Amino acid sequence: MLDNIRIVLVNTFHPGNIGAAARAMKNMGLTRLYLVSPKDYPSFEASQRASSATDVLEKAVVVDTLAEALEGCSLVAGTTARLRSVQWPQVDSRQCGELLFNESEQHEVALVFGRERTGLHNDELEHCQYLVNIPTHEAYSSLNLAQAVQVLSYEIFTASRSGERVQKLASKDESDREATSDQLENMYQHFFETMDGLAFFGDRNPEHVMRRLRCLFGRSRPTRREVQILRGLLSAAQGRKK
Ligand code: SAH
Repeated sequence: MLDNIRIVLVNTFHPGNIGAAARAMKNMGLTRLYLVSPKDYPSFEASQRASSATDVLEKAVVVDTLAEALEGCSLVAGTTARLRSVQWPQVDSRQCGELLFNESEQHEVALVFGRERTGLHNDELEHCQYLVNIPTHEAYSSLNLAQAVQVLSYEIFTASRSGERVQKLASKDESDREATSDQLENMYQHFFETMDGLAFFGDRNPEHVMRRLRCLFGRSRPTRREVQILRGLLSAAQGRKK
């Protein structure tokens, strides 16, 4: 099941951190590394820091955007050193390990890490259904990127060994499985265009409204069939307007 778990590093600055993250992953049985426009990669320093995990580096998928890295994932969790928007469901590292491992028994999941200096930006956190925080002493909450990957990979590995298993979904029907990140993104875009076309926003801030909708659907985790129904409704509303 660990094969269903992607570790996504966004815009990493130091190649050494990429190598150290690959090593941390391999130590804990994770192999699927995604790099979203890394600053300096491939690099000798990354390979050196990966030590015997260069195979993880060699298989790493390099993409330009976070959306590409998340394609096909039905659960996305984003890590943050600071707890931000309270509207987002938040879990600590232990809960994250259990959540991701349990969900990975059913579909692909992703755990997203931010830049060394500025972490994940708000528009990137909006792709996530959960925010993950590693509890720290209040004096200093920001871990080194690769060490944060280590702690969370360890928690996933520990959860995989605990023997506890969630009941697998009885339904095998594709349409009854949770929608993937790309399907949700397309739905949000469709919502935005329809609402905009209906002059719904008016005085409301579109960004805030869309964030609320993301929260709503992040909590309810709609299936592919449900997303299709909603998009059918949106298309009907768009048609009526014309
Ligand atoms: N100033 C940035 C810190 C970035 S640290 C911020 O406030 O987010 C680089 C990355 O390491 C973060 O984006 C996150 O992915 C991970 N990280 C560091 N400390 C963490 C913590 N306490 N909990 C969860 N992730 C953490």
